[in-house]
Amino acid sequence: MNRSRSSWDKKAPHPAVTRITRSSSSQVRHPTEAQDSSSGSRSATKSVSRRSLASVARLVKLGRCKNVVVVAGAGISTASGIPDFRTPGTGLYANLEKYNIPYPEAIFNIDYFSNDPQPFFSLAKALYPGSHRPNYIHYFIRMLHHKGLLLRMYTQNIDGLEKLCGIPDDKLVEAHGSFSTASCHLCYTPYPAEEAKHAIMNDNIPICTFCAATVKPDVVFFGEDLPQKYFLHAEDFPKADLLIIMGTSLQVSTFFFFLKQVMRSTVPRLLLNRHAVGPFEKVPLRRGDHMELGDLEDTVRRFAEMLGWNDEIKELMRSQETGVSSPLSIRKTNEKGEKQTSVSLKMASVDLTGCMRLIW
Ligand SMILES: [Zn+2]
Repeated sequence: MNRSRSSWDKKAPHPAVTRITRSSSSQVRHPTEAQDSSSGSRSATKSVSRRSLASVARLVKLGRCKNVVVVAGAGISTASGIPDFRTPGTGLYANLEKYNIPYPEAIFNIDYFSNDPQPFFSLAKALYPGSHRPNYIHYFIRMLHHKGLLLRMYTQNIDGLEKLCGIPDDKLVEAHGSFSTASCHLCYTPYPAEEAKHAIMNDNIPICTFCAATVKPDVVFFGEDLPQKYFLHAEDFPKADLLIIMGTSLQVSTFFFFLKQVMRSTVPRLLLNRHAVGPFEKVPLRRGDHMELGDLEDTVRRFAEMLGWNDEIKELMRSQETGVSSPLSIRKTNEKGEKQTSVSLKMASVDLTGCMRLIW
Protein backbone atom coordinates (compact mmCIF):
# COMPACT_ATOMS: atom_id res chain seq x y z
CA MET A 1 0.00 0.00 0.00
CA ASN A 2 1.50 3.27 -1.01
CA ARG A 3 1.15 5.52 1.98
CA SER A 4 3.99 7.81 1.10
CA ARG A 5 2.17 9.58 -1.67
CA SER A 6 2.94 13.25 -1.31
CA SER A 7 0.79 16.22 -2.07
CA TRP A 8 3.08 16.90 -5.02
CA ASP A 9 2.19 13.55 -6.57
CA LYS A 10 -1.47 14.29 -6.58
CA LYS A 11 -1.94 17.99 -6.67
CA ALA A 12 1.03 19.37 -8.55
CA PRO A 13 0.17 21.14 -11.77
CA HIS A 14 1.69 20.39 -15.13
CA PRO A 15 5.43 20.92 -14.69
CA ALA A 16 5.69 23.24 -17.67
CA VAL A 17 3.05 25.57 -16.29
CA THR A 18 3.42 28.09 -13.52
CA ARG A 19 1.86 26.85 -10.28
CA ILE A 20 -1.57 28.32 -9.82
CA THR A 21 -3.60 28.06 -6.68
CA ARG A 22 -6.95 29.46 -5.80
CA SER A 23 -6.21 32.95 -4.63
CA SER A 24 -7.64 34.15 -1.36
CA SER A 25 -7.25 37.82 -2.17
CA SER A 26 -10.10 40.16 -1.47
CA GLN A 27 -10.70 40.46 -5.20
CA VAL A 28 -11.64 36.83 -5.41
CA ARG A 29 -15.15 35.70 -4.87
CA HIS A 30 -16.27 32.25 -4.09
CA PRO A 31 -16.91 30.17 -7.20
CA THR A 32 -20.48 29.34 -6.34
CA GLU A 33 -21.37 32.89 -5.58
CA ALA A 34 -24.21 33.89 -7.81
CA GLN A 35 -23.42 37.52 -8.35
CA ASP A 36 -24.09 37.25 -12.03
CA SER A 37 -26.61 34.54 -11.71
CA SER A 38 -29.66 34.26 -13.85
CA SER A 39 -31.98 34.39 -10.88
CA GLY A 40 -34.00 37.40 -9.99
CA SER A 41 -35.98 39.77 -12.13
CA ARG A 42 -36.34 38.65 -15.67
CA SER A 43 -36.69 42.21 -16.84
CA ALA A 44 -33.44 43.40 -15.35
CA THR A 45 -31.25 43.88 -18.37
CA LYS A 46 -32.07 43.80 -22.03
CA SER A 47 -29.75 42.47 -24.60
CA VAL A 48 -27.34 45.00 -25.96
CA SER A 49 -27.67 43.52 -29.40
CA ARG A 50 -30.12 40.89 -30.52
CA ARG A 51 -27.95 40.40 -33.57
CA SER A 52 -25.04 39.13 -31.50
CA LEU A 53 -26.71 35.88 -30.63
CA ALA A 54 -27.96 35.44 -34.17
CA SER A 55 -24.50 36.14 -35.55
CA VAL A 56 -22.94 33.40 -33.47
CA ALA A 57 -25.82 31.02 -34.21
CA ARG A 58 -25.21 31.60 -37.90
CA LEU A 59 -21.53 30.73 -37.51
CA VAL A 60 -22.41 27.50 -35.71
CA LYS A 61 -24.96 26.55 -38.36
CA LEU A 62 -22.40 27.24 -41.07
CA GLY A 63 -20.06 24.75 -39.40
CA ARG A 64 -17.48 27.38 -38.52
CA CYS A 65 -17.42 26.41 -34.83
CA LYS A 66 -16.24 22.86 -34.38
CA ASN A 67 -14.18 23.26 -31.21
CA VAL A 68 -16.30 25.14 -28.74
CA VAL A 69 -14.92 25.90 -25.28
CA VAL A 70 -17.51 26.72 -22.62
CA VAL A 71 -16.53 28.55 -19.46
CA ALA A 72 -19.33 28.53 -16.90
CA GLY A 73 -20.01 29.82 -13.41
CA ALA A 74 -22.69 29.91 -10.74
CA GLY A 75 -25.24 31.54 -13.03
CA ILE A 76 -25.87 28.30 -14.92
CA SER A 77 -27.07 26.59 -11.74
CA THR A 78 -29.37 29.13 -10.19
CA ALA A 79 -32.20 27.91 -12.44
CA SER A 80 -31.71 24.55 -10.70
CA GLY A 81 -32.40 26.20 -7.35
CA ILE A 82 -28.83 26.20 -6.10
CA PRO A 83 -28.94 28.93 -3.46
CA ASP A 84 -26.52 31.75 -3.81
CA PHE A 85 -24.09 32.37 -1.02
CA ARG A 86 -24.51 35.98 -0.10
CA THR A 87 -28.20 36.81 -0.10
CA PRO A 88 -28.92 38.16 3.40
CA GLY A 89 -31.13 35.84 5.38
CA THR A 90 -31.41 33.10 2.79
CA GLY A 91 -27.87 32.71 1.44
CA LEU A 92 -25.81 29.83 2.74
CA TYR A 93 -23.31 32.17 4.31
CA ALA A 94 -26.06 33.74 6.39
CA ASN A 95 -26.60 30.44 8.16
CA LEU A 96 -23.01 30.22 9.31
CA GLU A 97 -23.08 33.09 11.74
CA LYS A 98 -23.14 30.72 14.70
CA TYR A 99 -19.61 29.62 13.84
CA ASN A 100 -18.23 33.15 14.15
CA ILE A 101 -16.05 32.80 11.09
CA PRO A 102 -14.08 36.02 10.52
CA TYR A 103 -15.31 36.49 6.92
CA PRO A 104 -17.49 34.32 4.68
CA GLU A 105 -14.71 33.06 2.43
CA ALA A 106 -12.86 31.70 5.46
CA ILE A 107 -15.10 28.69 5.21
CA PHE A 108 -13.20 27.75 2.03
CA ASN A 109 -9.78 28.66 3.40
CA ILE A 110 -7.62 25.57 3.81
CA ASP A 111 -5.76 26.91 6.84
CA TYR A 112 -8.99 27.81 8.56
CA PHE A 113 -10.36 24.35 7.75
CA SER A 114 -7.26 22.75 9.20
CA ASN A 115 -7.98 24.44 12.52
CA ASP A 116 -11.74 24.09 12.50
CA PRO A 117 -13.43 21.96 9.84
CA GLN A 118 -16.89 22.22 11.37
CA PRO A 119 -18.09 25.34 9.53
CA PHE A 120 -17.24 23.81 6.16
CA PHE A 121 -18.81 20.48 7.03
CA SER A 122 -21.96 22.27 8.08
CA LEU A 123 -22.07 24.00 4.73
CA ALA A 124 -21.11 20.81 2.90
CA LYS A 125 -24.27 19.13 4.15
CA ALA A 126 -26.24 21.66 2.12
CA LEU A 127 -23.89 21.58 -0.84
CA TYR A 128 -23.59 17.83 -1.40
CA PRO A 129 -25.00 17.04 -4.83
CA GLY A 130 -28.20 15.07 -4.90
CA SER A 131 -31.02 17.47 -4.18
CA HIS A 132 -30.87 19.49 -7.39
CA ARG A 133 -31.33 18.64 -11.04
CA PRO A 134 -29.61 19.98 -14.15
CA ASN A 135 -31.56 22.65 -16.02
CA TYR A 136 -31.97 23.65 -19.66
CA ILE A 137 -28.58 25.40 -19.69
CA HIS A 138 -26.74 22.26 -18.64
CA TYR A 139 -28.54 20.28 -21.32
CA PHE A 140 -27.71 22.90 -23.93
CA ILE A 141 -24.02 22.27 -23.20
CA ARG A 142 -24.68 18.55 -23.29
CA MET A 143 -26.25 19.07 -26.72
CA LEU A 144 -23.11 20.86 -27.89
CA HIS A 145 -21.28 17.66 -27.05
CA HIS A 146 -23.78 15.48 -28.88
CA LYS A 147 -23.47 17.65 -31.93
CA GLY A 148 -19.74 16.95 -31.80
CA LEU A 149 -18.91 20.61 -31.17
CA LEU A 150 -17.79 20.69 -27.55
CA LEU A 151 -14.03 20.76 -27.14
CA ARG A 152 -14.22 21.24 -23.38
CA MET A 153 -16.36 22.70 -20.64
CA TYR A 154 -14.67 24.47 -17.77
CA THR A 155 -16.92 24.95 -14.77
CA GLN A 156 -16.27 26.69 -11.51
CA ASN A 157 -19.31 25.03 -9.95
CA ILE A 158 -19.05 22.20 -7.44
CA ASP A 159 -22.68 21.08 -7.68
CA GLY A 160 -21.98 18.15 -10.00
CA LEU A 161 -24.86 19.08 -12.35
CA GLU A 162 -22.67 18.94 -15.43
CA LYS A 163 -21.96 15.26 -14.85
CA LEU A 164 -25.55 14.58 -13.90
CA CYS A 165 -26.82 15.89 -17.22
CA GLY A 166 -24.43 13.57 -19.00
CA ILE A 167 -21.46 15.68 -20.06
CA PRO A 168 -18.71 13.06 -20.17
CA ASP A 169 -15.71 13.27 -17.89
CA ASP A 170 -13.22 13.80 -20.72
CA LYS A 171 -15.13 16.88 -21.89
CA LEU A 172 -15.42 18.40 -18.44
CA VAL A 173 -12.98 20.28 -16.25
CA GLU A 174 -14.30 20.92 -12.76
CA ALA A 175 -11.81 23.68 -12.07
CA HIS A 176 -12.71 23.94 -8.41
CA GLY A 177 -12.98 20.23 -7.77
CA SER A 178 -16.05 18.30 -6.72
CA PHE A 179 -17.61 16.14 -4.03
CA SER A 180 -17.16 13.00 -6.10
CA THR A 181 -13.84 12.15 -4.45
CA ALA A 182 -12.34 12.85 -1.04
CA SER A 183 -8.88 12.87 0.49
CA CYS A 184 -6.88 13.94 3.50
CA HIS A 185 -6.44 17.71 3.51
CA LEU A 186 -2.88 17.28 4.78
CA CYS A 187 -1.29 14.25 3.06
CA TYR A 188 -3.86 13.82 0.24
CA THR A 189 -4.29 10.11 0.90
CA PRO A 190 -7.52 9.20 -0.92
CA TYR A 191 -10.55 8.38 1.21
CA PRO A 192 -13.78 6.73 0.03
CA ALA A 193 -16.07 9.60 -0.98
CA GLU A 194 -19.20 7.81 0.15
CA GLU A 195 -17.76 7.20 3.62
CA ALA A 196 -16.72 10.84 3.90
CA LYS A 197 -20.21 11.91 2.90
CA HIS A 198 -21.80 9.56 5.42
CA ALA A 199 -19.61 10.92 8.22
CA ILE A 200 -20.24 14.55 7.31
CA MET A 201 -23.99 14.07 6.96
CA ASN A 202 -24.04 12.52 10.42
CA ASP A 203 -22.01 15.33 12.00
CA ASN A 204 -18.90 13.22 12.31
CA ILE A 205 -15.43 14.13 11.10
CA PRO A 206 -13.82 11.74 8.61
CA ILE A 207 -10.25 10.99 9.66
CA CYS A 208 -7.32 10.05 7.43
CA THR A 209 -6.29 6.43 7.96
CA PHE A 210 -2.66 7.33 7.30
CA CYS A 211 -1.96 10.51 9.27
CA ALA A 212 -5.15 11.03 11.30
CA ALA A 213 -5.73 14.51 9.87
CA THR A 214 -9.16 15.59 8.68
CA VAL A 215 -10.49 14.30 5.38
CA LYS A 216 -12.48 16.59 3.11
CA PRO A 217 -14.22 16.30 -0.25
CA ASP A 218 -11.89 17.28 -3.09
CA VAL A 219 -13.42 20.72 -3.48
CA VAL A 220 -10.57 23.13 -4.13
CA PHE A 221 -10.15 25.57 -1.28
CA PHE A 222 -8.48 28.94 -1.41
CA GLY A 223 -4.77 28.23 -1.04
CA GLU A 224 -4.91 24.80 -2.71
CA ASP A 225 -3.56 23.85 -6.10
CA LEU A 226 -6.05 23.56 -8.92
CA PRO A 227 -6.76 20.12 -10.40
CA GLN A 228 -4.34 18.98 -13.08
CA LYS A 229 -7.14 18.94 -15.65
CA TYR A 230 -7.38 22.70 -15.29
CA PHE A 231 -4.15 22.94 -17.25
CA LEU A 232 -5.79 21.43 -20.31
CA HIS A 233 -6.65 25.03 -21.13
CA ALA A 234 -3.09 25.49 -22.42
CA GLU A 235 -3.87 23.15 -25.31
CA ASP A 236 -7.61 23.84 -25.60
CA PHE A 237 -7.61 27.58 -26.10
CA PRO A 238 -5.32 27.66 -29.14
CA LYS A 239 -7.62 25.07 -30.77
CA ALA A 240 -10.88 26.80 -29.88
CA ASP A 241 -12.93 28.40 -32.63
CA LEU A 242 -15.66 29.69 -30.31
CA LEU A 243 -15.53 30.59 -26.63
CA ILE A 244 -18.83 30.77 -24.75
CA ILE A 245 -18.70 32.35 -21.30
CA MET A 246 -21.85 31.93 -19.25
CA GLY A 247 -23.11 32.87 -15.83
CA THR A 248 -19.87 34.03 -14.29
CA SER A 249 -18.60 37.28 -12.89
CA LEU A 250 -15.10 36.30 -14.06
CA GLN A 251 -13.93 37.66 -10.73
CA VAL A 252 -12.53 34.31 -9.73
CA SER A 253 -8.92 34.66 -10.75
CA THR A 254 -8.68 31.13 -12.12
CA PHE A 255 -11.32 31.98 -14.69
CA PHE A 256 -10.27 35.49 -15.50
CA PHE A 257 -6.93 33.94 -16.44
CA PHE A 258 -8.67 32.15 -19.29
CA LEU A 259 -9.34 35.35 -21.14
CA LYS A 260 -5.63 36.01 -21.36
CA GLN A 261 -5.14 32.73 -23.16
CA VAL A 262 -3.76 32.71 -26.65
CA MET A 263 -6.65 32.87 -29.07
CA ARG A 264 -6.66 34.20 -32.56
CA SER A 265 -8.16 37.67 -32.59
CA THR A 266 -10.79 36.53 -35.02
CA VAL A 267 -12.06 33.75 -32.78
CA PRO A 268 -15.52 34.77 -31.59
CA ARG A 269 -16.14 35.04 -27.85
CA LEU A 270 -19.75 35.03 -26.69
CA LEU A 271 -20.72 36.24 -23.24
CA LEU A 272 -24.12 35.09 -21.96
CA ASN A 273 -24.66 36.72 -18.61
CA ARG A 274 -26.76 39.11 -16.58
CA HIS A 275 -24.10 41.81 -16.68
CA ALA A 276 -21.15 42.72 -18.85
CA VAL A 277 -17.98 41.47 -17.16
CA GLY A 278 -14.24 41.54 -17.69
CA PRO A 279 -13.18 42.61 -21.18
CA PHE A 280 -16.84 42.79 -22.23
CA GLU A 281 -17.22 45.95 -20.16
CA LYS A 282 -15.06 47.82 -22.63
CA VAL A 283 -16.56 49.99 -25.35
CA PRO A 284 -16.27 49.21 -28.14
CA LEU A 285 -16.10 45.46 -27.83
CA ARG A 286 -13.15 43.63 -29.28
CA ARG A 287 -13.68 42.51 -32.84
CA GLY A 288 -15.28 39.09 -32.66
CA ASP A 289 -16.74 39.61 -29.18
CA HIS A 290 -20.47 39.21 -28.72
CA MET A 291 -22.62 39.44 -25.65
CA GLU A 292 -26.22 38.78 -24.81
CA LEU A 293 -27.28 40.11 -21.43
CA GLY A 294 -30.31 39.18 -19.39
CA ASP A 295 -31.82 36.07 -17.88
CA LEU A 296 -29.42 33.28 -18.75
CA GLU A 297 -31.95 30.49 -19.18
CA ASP A 298 -34.08 32.64 -21.49
CA THR A 299 -31.02 33.59 -23.50
CA VAL A 300 -29.82 30.02 -23.88
CA ARG A 301 -33.30 28.93 -24.90
CA ARG A 302 -33.40 31.58 -27.63
CA PHE A 303 -29.93 30.56 -28.76
CA ALA A 304 -31.07 26.94 -28.99
CA GLU A 305 -34.13 27.97 -30.98
CA MET A 306 -31.92 29.87 -33.44
CA LEU A 307 -29.81 26.75 -33.81
CA GLY A 308 -32.87 24.55 -34.24
CA TRP A 309 -31.95 22.48 -31.18
CA ASN A 310 -34.77 23.40 -28.82
CA ASP A 311 -36.97 20.37 -29.43
CA GLU A 312 -34.03 17.99 -29.14
CA ILE A 313 -32.92 19.54 -25.87
CA LYS A 314 -36.43 19.42 -24.41
CA GLU A 315 -36.78 15.80 -25.47
CA LEU A 316 -33.40 14.95 -23.99
CA MET A 317 -34.37 16.62 -20.71
CA ARG A 318 -37.71 14.87 -20.59
CA SER A 319 -36.13 11.54 -21.33
CA GLN A 320 -33.34 11.80 -18.82
CA GLU A 321 -35.19 13.49 -16.01
CA THR A 322 -37.98 10.93 -16.16
CA GLY A 323 -35.67 8.01 -16.87
CA VAL A 324 -37.80 7.06 -19.88
CA SER A 325 -35.92 6.47 -23.08
CA SER A 326 -37.35 7.97 -26.22
CA PRO A 327 -37.36 6.86 -29.84
CA LEU A 328 -36.29 10.37 -30.76
CA SER A 329 -32.77 10.36 -32.08
CA ILE A 330 -30.17 12.97 -31.43
CA ARG A 331 -28.58 13.73 -34.72
CA LYS A 332 -24.92 14.46 -34.73
CA THR A 333 -23.85 17.12 -37.18
CA ASN A 334 -20.65 16.90 -39.07
CA GLU A 335 -18.32 19.76 -39.87
CA LYS A 336 -20.28 20.84 -42.92
CA GLY A 337 -23.51 20.99 -40.98
CA GLU A 338 -24.86 17.88 -42.66
CA LYS A 339 -26.84 15.46 -40.57
CA GLN A 340 -24.65 12.43 -40.36
CA THR A 341 -25.20 10.03 -37.51
CA SER A 342 -28.02 9.15 -35.21
CA VAL A 343 -27.45 8.34 -31.59
CA SER A 344 -30.41 7.02 -29.70
CA LEU A 345 -31.39 8.48 -26.39
CA LYS A 346 -30.93 5.03 -24.91
CA MET A 347 -27.22 5.58 -25.37
CA ALA A 348 -27.58 8.98 -23.77
CA SER A 349 -29.19 7.30 -20.79
CA VAL A 350 -26.25 4.93 -20.55
CA ASP A 351 -24.00 7.99 -20.42
CA LEU A 352 -26.01 9.41 -17.58
CA THR A 353 -25.98 6.21 -15.61
CA GLY A 354 -22.23 5.99 -16.00
CA CYS A 355 -21.81 9.54 -14.83
CA MET A 356 -24.02 8.97 -11.83
CA ARG A 357 -21.85 6.03 -10.91
CA LEU A 358 -18.85 8.27 -11.16
CA ILE A 359 -20.36 10.73 -8.76
CA TRP A 360 -21.97 8.57 -6.15
ZN1 LIG B 1 -3.48 12.19 5.91
